[in-house]
Amino acid sequence: MEGGRRACVIGAGGFIASWIVAKLLDRGYKVHGTVRDPDDDEKNGHLKKLPGVGERLSLFRADVLDYESLVPAVRGCDVVFHTACPVAPNFEDPDAVLKPAVDGTRNVMEACHKENIKRVETHNHYGHYTISTIMTIFLERVYCRGFFASMERACVIGAGGFIASWIVAKLLDRGYTVHGTVRDPDDDEKYGHLKKLPGASERLSLFRADVLDYDSLVPAVRGCHVVFHTACPVAHKFEDPDAVLKPAMDGTRNVMEACHKENVKRVVFTSSGAAMIFDPNRSRDQIIDESCWSDPEACRKYQQWYRLAKTESEKLVSKLGDEFGIHVVVICPVWVLGPILQSKINASVGLVATLMNGSKTSYPNIYFALVDVRDVAEAHIAGYEDPNASGRYFCIACSKLCKEMIETLKENFPQYSYPEKCETEGDLFEKFMNLFEKFSNKKILSLIKEFIPYEKMLVDTVASLQEKGLL
Ligand code: NAP
Repeated sequence: MEGGRRACVIGAGGFIASWIVAKLLDRGYKVHGTVRDPDDDEKNGHLKKLPGVGERLSLFRADVLDYESLVPAVRGCDVVFHTACPVAPNFEDPDAVLKPAVDGTRNVMEACHKENIKRVETHNHYGHYTISTIMTIFLERVYCRGFFASMERACVIGAGGFIASWIVAKLLDRGYTVHGTVRDPDDDEKYGHLKKLPGASERLSLFRADVLDYDSLVPAVRGCHVVFHTACPVAHKFEDPDAVLKPAMDGTRNVMEACHKENVKRVVFTSSGAAMIFDPNRSRDQIIDESCWSDPEACRKYQQWYRLAKTESEKLVSKLGDEFGIHVVVICPVWVLGPILQSKINASVGLVATLMNGSKTSYPNIYFALVDVRDVAEAHIAGYEDPNASGRYFCIACSKLCKEMIETLKENFPQYSYPEKCETEGDLFEKFMNLFEKFSNKKILSLIKEFIPYEKMLVDTVASLQEKGLL
């Protein structure tokens, strides 16, 4: 699936509309502009000379009074900007403005409805600002940063999980209406925290759904502009490969098929550094970035079932995205720490607890690649909101030796009991776990501007465990 969003501007040659077109092109959008006569260069020639026009601007012959002419123009667009309306200080004939305004708007909306466009922006009277300023505010603050997010509906699959709960919290905070899928909405011990999030009572609906049950997913994704698919079991070790492979593979297929059925055009998928790191043939000097994949054969050989599941499910989601015409953005976080919202400790935060609760006498001599859950959630949302987002993003803030993590924890929380002895846990650990030393997080820094610093991440993790009585 090609990257970048597609927008239609109705009445593209007008004063305001020309600025919308210019700024959309500048941001990398593909633009369909409707004009009444594409061959009239006196009227519309300026559009053809805009920077970035290249292959990205197509002009469509359309009149807002002619429904049929609008349909091909809006087809395949993520958003339609409806600006077309005659403007004059006064109109002698009321129909000269009422007809295009009212019938025109109805035609545009009906064309959007036919072509399943989920988002239409229109404008009113803006006062005395310059048009360039208005459009910058409109596009940067309003459209791109989700000021109108209350018009947006997002579904989070596996909403009660550690990462997903933060995605839900941040979506609600931005004004989105959220559909969260959980396996049992009545289980308040597991999901009660979601119901208490600010904005939840007005804008969060929980749907009973299992990723292994296609039919349960369909109503949850219905009407959503974007689906965040995070659900996958996480554990340090899976004895039964199917315990992770089945939900990862069948679950991802079911989510994508439900999206396809309900015409959802964008999916943000939670993959993992696990889908990137495990390749015994890779040189230890290689910098880990988005070009790296775990080797499925090696995963099978060494029974690395979680890594295999993340690798294969990421490939599957991209393949189905291409097949179904769904734009898929993939976030690959490494070891995720940070404050928990749910009431029970999850696998990755559990690592910190095991380093502090006296359950271990030794620690492994390996690097842990770390990232804060709040940054991971931001990256997911930016993966939807940023019109230029595409492909996979390696989501890593820093890489620290376990010894260094213990030292930082000791400095901040000396009252706990830490393992003293450093040792490796066998050849496999030494050979394959020690590889996050060299990495590049350049691509993800285009989605989130900076990472929460390492020490704050650790301190906030522990503070949240203390607050919930888990440490
Ligand atoms: P988590 O707290 O254990 O959450 C896992 C989620 O998956 C839960 O919401 C769980 O639902 C859901 N799930 C599992 N099987 C399911 C099924 N059959 N149907 C519906 N939901 C199911 O884990 P997390 O750390 O937030 O991980 C979330 C995602 O991030 C996973 O895809 C994981 O691979 C990825 N990831 C995590 C890390 C990390 O360090 N935490 C790093 C990289 C990638 P229930 O609430 O119903 O159990």
